[in-house]
This record gives sequence, structure tokens and C-alpha cells, in this order.
Amino acid sequence: MSEPIFDKVALIGIGLIGASLAHAIRRAGAAVHVAGYSPSAEQRAVAKKIGFADSLPETLGDAARDADLVVLAAPVGAFAGIAKEIAPHLKQGAILSDVGSVKSAVLRDVGPHVPAGVHFIPAHPIAGTEQSGPAAGFAELFDDRWCILTPPAGADAAALEKLKTFWQRLGSQVEVMDAHHHDLVLAITSHVPHLIAYNIVGTADDLSSVTKSEVIKYSAGGFRDFTRIAASDPTMWRDVFLNNKDAVLEVLGRFSEDLSALQRAIRWGDGEALFNLFARTRAIRRGIIDAGQDSAAPNFGRNVQKK
Ligand code: NAP
Repeated sequence: MSEPIFDKVALIGIGLIGASLAHAIRRAGAAVHVAGYSPSAEQRAVAKKIGFADSLPETLGDAARDADLVVLAAPVGAFAGIAKEIAPHLKQGAILSDVGSVKSAVLRDVGPHVPAGVHFIPAHPIAGTEQSGPAAGFAELFDDRWCILTPPAGADAAALEKLKTFWQRLGSQVEVMDAHHHDLVLAITSHVPHLIAYNIVGTADDLSSVTKSEVIKYSAGGFRDFTRIAASDPTMWRDVFLNNKDAVLEVLGRFSEDLSALQRAIRWGDGEALFNLFARTRAIRRGIIDAGQDSAAPNFGRNVQKK
């Protein structure tokens, strides 16, 4: 196995992403010591039982102290408070990073608290599931997924390179881009699709008095796949929408126009418009499979349950 990249890595937040990071770091031998922090004693006890961290300090300061890499893996809305509290404990030369799903807001909220001599390089692994908490983590989460780094202007080149190597060692492919661009790309590929899923599941629930239990009974007709996305963590997703407002509203504007065009095509019986769109979108699905970002197996590779 290759040499560890860091002596001590501190994970602030040990839910799905933090716990997966701890497992992946251990699998890759990427650090000598992993410290995991969660504010709740109950969750620290769960983490202790699973055993993915070398230490589980009770305070943020104890977790961050002496760490060569500190990764914020809590909901984005908590980042400013965490950054303020850990700042006096950060070691000179340490890298401060995160895994937040939005990036401009992280630069805005964390940037002002970063002490001189600490290298701040935000990151976002494009990997996840609808599960949360320490028991949901697994080492393979980042395998063959992209991790986007959004260094602020003037970021230290050696620290950037080191963080890149770290994510590659965990199994990811790494891309570097500007935070604003990241937020726009993610608004269309992740944030608005989640909003659509939350909305359609909410609408179906509102109609449940009309449809009785049929929404659940016939859910395999497409609805079920939306419910998986709409089961994602409410705190995390509230913070995503509050912190990527501009990009989400911009993409939603385009989405609403396109939806109105579809509505018109259906009203006027314009089958050609419908067919052309559906043919175009089918090709996009093919592209995602060819890029290795999903399975070509029928039904997303789910086991077909026999009655
Ligand atoms: P999660 O499973 O709900 O875990 C959140 C963790 O943060 C828990 O350990 C929680 O501790 C801790 N936490 C909450 N408030 C905190 C605070 N004020 N100070 C310190 N720690 C705090 O969430 P997750 O899915 O791992 O998401 C974590 C981050 O990853 C988010 O910023 C999210 O945007 C990003 N992300 C998520 C995904 C995804 O698909 N889930 C993908 C990529 C990136 P307690 O349990 O003790 O409250």
C-alpha cells in the first residue's frame, strides 16, 4: 500500500459522507489517524461501535487540533459556525476543505474565518445516496465518481495538488472549477431534479385522498423512483436550496418554460414534438451509462422481487 498522504484527518460530521470518507481513507491507507466529530453523543456511540474512526473527540477544537486536513462534512448551513469555532485550533500549513453540495456560499461563509497560513480548498464529491447518519457510510461511495475542487483565487498550488491526490486515492476522478460555475452545473444536474422529486411526491401525497392507497400500490409506474430521491435528508436539502438560490432560480425559470411547451404540445396533440424530446432524452441516458455513471441493467439493477 502507498504511504499515507496525511498524518491526521479530522472529519467534522460523520454522517453518510463523513463516515464514507473515514471508511475510504482507511481502505486506501490515506491517513495515519482519522478523528470524527459529531455533536450528538448518540451518533458518536454509533460511530464507535462501527469503528471507522481512530478517535471521536467530544469538541470541535479537539477534533481539529493538530489535523493536517480538516473536512467539513456537516450540513452547509452549519459551516460558518463550525469554521469560527475551529479557526483558533487549526495548525499552520493545514488544509481546510469540505464536501458541501454548494460552493459559492461555502467560500462566503467559511472564507472569512480561515486563519493566515491555513490552505482553504472547498470540494464536492458528486456521490451520495438517500441515506444519512454514520451507519449509512461505506468505503466504495466515491469509487469512479467525480470530486469537484473549487479553490479560491490565489490558493496554494501544492495544497491543491495534495487534496487532488487524496481524492484520487479514495477512488474519485478530480475536476477543478470555479465555485460559481459549479453551482450552476449542480443546479441542473442535482438540485432542481431533487426539487422536482420533492414536488411530485408532495403533490401525490396531497392527492392521496382522491387516489386512496393507489399511489403506493401502483408506484412502480415511475413514482417510486422519485420517492427514492425525495427521501433525501431534509436538513441537508433545505440548506442546499437556501444557499444556491440564484442558480436554482435561474434553472427553474428555464424548466418552467420547457414544461409549458410540453403542456402546449399535449394540448395541441403535437406528437412530433413529444417524440423528438423523448428520443433526445433517451440518448442522454445512454450517454450516462457509457460514461460509467450508472448501470445499464433493467430497473436500475434492482433485484426483481418475486411474490
Ligand atoms: P448526514 O448523514 O445527515 O450527516 C451530517 C453530519 O453532520 C452528522 O454527523 C451530524 O451530526 C453532523 N452535524 C450536524 N450539525 C452539525 C454541527 N452544527 N456541527 C458539526 N456537525 C454537525 O449528512 P450527509 O449526507 O453526510 O451530508 C453532509 C454534507 O455532505 C452536506 O454538506 C451535504 O451537502 C454534502 N453532500 C451530501 C451528499 C449526499 O448525497 N448526501 C452528497 C455530496 C455532498 P449529528 O448526527 O450528531 O447531528
